[in-house]
Amino acid sequence: MDLGLHGKRALVCAASKGLGRGCAEALAEAGVALTINARGTEALEATAQHLRDTHGVPVTAVAGDITDEGARAEVLAAAGDVDILVTNAGGPPPGLWSDWDRADFIQALDANMLTPIALMKALLPGMMARKWGRVVNITSSSIKSPIPQLGLSNAARTGLTGYVAGTSRQVAEHGVTINNLCPGIHDTDRAVSLDTAVTKATGVTMDEARKTREASIPAKRYGTPEEFGATCAFLCSQHAGFIVGQNILLDGGAVVATV
Ligand code: NAP
Repeated sequence: MDLGLHGKRALVCAASKGLGRGCAEALAEAGVALTINARGTEALEATAQHLRDTHGVPVTAVAGDITDEGARAEVLAAAGDVDILVTNAGGPPPGLWSDWDRADFIQALDANMLTPIALMKALLPGMMARKWGRVVNITSSSIKSPIPQLGLSNAARTGLTGYVAGTSRQVAEHGVTINNLCPGIHDTDRAVSLDTAVTKATGVTMDEARKTREASIPAKRYGTPEEFGATCAFLCSQHAGFIVGQNILLDGGAVVATV
């Protein structure tokens, strides 16, 4: 399917690895010129070079913490007038409800709620003026089915979800869609770090931790960054202009709900 994105420009945040990288790769394959970001320079430059070599699209790499106001300004300046924004950042650490104080919540809210909101506030006006735009926020299946040990994530991401629910309806008439992609367990470094937390808490091996988590998913496997990226690219495509304000689960059926 031609996604109709050839020549469009995108900013994909937190994209040197994992789900962000999956989104960047699928957009690059569709002919989108990219600005990508992550904190670590080495993996970021390697990903940028891979995307240029594989897909022949221009890729600008800007290293920096996307949750930091100054770094975010540099990323936005390099990205310029983009047509597509994919927001993403690392997820908060697991723990128990009694572990976290105000500073922990502020950090989580900054990363997984206020940063995507700031990015949208900066880029939506240009998209609306040009009468076309796509925003995809990488959130979590936890907005539909909370993960008890990820209380910081549950809190921050549902805040973003509420913001998107209203804002997406305010910008849709200008040809701009905002939707959230809600991953369940995917095969990335984040999954490894959560499996590691299980091994520390329960004493099981990494293999056992993974097998137990896989068994909890109806598809009996972790998702891949490639299939996640393909869904993101479709949501950004010309065909998805009528999909507005949705929270799309990619979780192998793990969230059990009729609707
Ligand atoms: P990942 O494999 O750990 O990759 C994270 C990427 O984001 C890396 O490129 C990392 O590079 C970059 N990054 C992290 N924090 C950043 C920051 N503050 N500023 C800029 N770049 C940053 O993680 P993932 O699995 O792709 O997860 C992506 C998001 O989806 C996370 O918020 C995660 O919590 C959420 N999620 C993941 C799963 C899953 O199973 N994988 C499930 C539900 C939700 P640097 O470290 O170099 O910055």
